[in-house]
Amino acid sequence: MASEYAIPGVAVDESLFTTGPTPRLVGSQCAGCGVVTFPQAGSCSRCTGTSMTRVELPSRGRLWSWTVQGFLPKNPPYAGKETPLTFKPYGVGYIQLDAPGGGDGVIVESRLTESDAASLKIGMEMELTLIPFTTDDSGQDVITFAFAPVGGAA
Ligand SMILES: [Zn+2]
Repeated sequence: MASEYAIPGVAVDESLFTTGPTPRLVGSQCAGCGVVTFPQAGSCSRCTGTSMTRVELPSRGRLWSWTVQGFLPKNPPYAGKETPLTFKPYGVGYIQLDAPGGGDGVIVESRLTESDAASLKIGMEMELTLIPFTTDDSGQDVITFAFAPVGGAA
């Protein structure tokens, strides 16, 4: 199980991204109107169609908007085990993924690997990666997805 990912650990949610050395987010596409969603949805938000198929999304896109989460989020829904004393701020952003045929694809919300405002710039190219998030009750690392600036920080 752990060795299926590029880094050791188990997925925070196996429906969100693929295993393997090159992770991909998993969304769904409406057979009726072509809308792509992330995360996967059972019905279409545009045409209410229910014929949704699983699609692996492009791993690159552009930073559409971002902020820095500067305080410990409410738990739940946040599942991290930090305390106010151990919490470290992290970047959160919207990434407009490339469309498979070129142009603009779906916008996804994601944690960012950068939390320094000087390192983030709207429009910069971002790439999907996996990062350690927390540990489960057996002490095993739990991993989640994040986007990192392509070629390092701005
Ligand atoms: Zn639709």
